[in-house]
Amino acid sequence: MDTDATPYPDQEIWFLTGSQGLYGDDILHQVAEQSRSISKTLGGPGKIPVKIVWKPVLTDAESIRRLCQEASSSDTCVGVIVWMHTFSPAKMWIAGLSTLDRPLLHLHTQYNLSLPWPSIDMDFMNLNQAAHGDREFGHIESRVGIDRKIVAGHATDPRVVRRIAAWARAAVGRHASRTLRLARFGDNMRDVAVTEGDKVEAQLRFGYSVNTYAVNDLVAVVDEVEDKEAAQLAAEYVESYDMVPALRPGGIRHDSLLYAARQEIGLRAFLTEGGFTAFTTNFEDLGGLRQLPGLAVQRLMADGYGFGGEGDWKTSALLRTMKVMGQGRPGGTTFMEDYTYHLGPGTPRVLGAHMLEVCPSVADGRPSCQIHPLSIGGREDPVRLVFNAAPGPATVVGLSDLGDRFRLTANTVDVITPSEPLHRLPVARAVWKPRPSLAESAESWLLAGAPHHTVLSSAVDVETLTDYAAMTGVELLTIDENTHTEQFAKEVRWNAAYHRLAQAL
Ligand code: MN
Repeated sequence: MDTDATPYPDQEIWFLTGSQGLYGDDILHQVAEQSRSISKTLGGPGKIPVKIVWKPVLTDAESIRRLCQEASSSDTCVGVIVWMHTFSPAKMWIAGLSTLDRPLLHLHTQYNLSLPWPSIDMDFMNLNQAAHGDREFGHIESRVGIDRKIVAGHATDPRVVRRIAAWARAAVGRHASRTLRLARFGDNMRDVAVTEGDKVEAQLRFGYSVNTYAVNDLVAVVDEVEDKEAAQLAAEYVESYDMVPALRPGGIRHDSLLYAARQEIGLRAFLTEGGFTAFTTNFEDLGGLRQLPGLAVQRLMADGYGFGGEGDWKTSALLRTMKVMGQGRPGGTTFMEDYTYHLGPGTPRVLGAHMLEVCPSVADGRPSCQIHPLSIGGREDPVRLVFNAAPGPATVVGLSDLGDRFRLTANTVDVITPSEPLHRLPVARAVWKPRPSLAESAESWLLAGAPHHTVLSSAVDVETLTDYAAMTGVELLTIDENTHTEQFAKEVRWNAAYHRLAQAL
């Protein structure tokens, strides 16, 4: 369940009700009262996490067209819910739906839960007509060819609430994608294939604006940070984490902690100044940076920034999008990489980590702050947070560029506590059992050409991702408890045909 009713104070979902003038003022008044009440029920505490804004009942083509255009140009409206309380002849909706540029959820519901069997009369029948009114609307949605999520049931049904809430989060994610600005510090790692991609297509498809900056532009900002500021932030680190003695004030490595603080302040200033919500680094291209940023990246991720290592802008943008979709939910969301396997005895599992950059939003307890050498990159030892990821269900998601289009691949997993303490492992990590099994998950993942860099989230569910993929017109392959490798291979082939046909020539 959502812990916070309004994690998105700046966004709205508009609630549209369809009807027609034939019914007369009395009935239309009741239609308005009842649809307003339904929109209120859905927007109650712990229900749909985005503010629901009720709009006056629509009874003619011109007002429908105007409202769809208003929604499409609104800075706050991220999606529209539409319900036909009564019969709304659907040719009236053609002009509006044809121009609508917002995700659409068709809510198929009715005001009363039960039929008043002994008292039902034709007045009741004339007022409560969603059963056929929504069928008329469903027909025109199909005919216009508009993508939509359909949710059927009473507004008090938890399944209805869950399905609309997932869609609402996806709609906010789509909005975040379309306004996403990403700073790459340096290019991507040399010779690596999967971190490449078509940035123009990414902007057309998702809205990501991805641009590269010289690392030394960042170094200049880092070097300008006042000693006093760095010392203040380092003191906050000492309060927040289990700090190893060498990094504490007076410790022999305290200078490294001060430099890590300087990096965080500099990075944050650079990103804030440019309006960036995501970034990448590359250990091959650190310019004048003395350490590969570890702690700074971890803390920025915890504050909602997207991040990708080795210049991986696709994973960084996906992480930012999922951070937004998971806002206010229990659990966390992090950059991740499948690192190494336990193939037995017992259930095979994955040990995921990265060189440094795992987000503490997934940590099980208070992280420890440590310093260790990094065997790659040839710089000073970087400071990092070390922890295990909290156990529980999660989703691992990757975004790959197939050349002619993008593909999202998701795997549902169960994060578990490591079987034994990992005393000598100097990085944050997550251990998980992929569903349905490591073998079938890995066979399917490799068949999908899905990346080794991923986003691991215990806050964003597969339903939200599915809705997000539909809204952006991007393929999503899901590997879960129902996956069989052979069937999955067929899905990959069928999808290739569908997505090539679905794209405009
Ligand atoms: Mn990596």
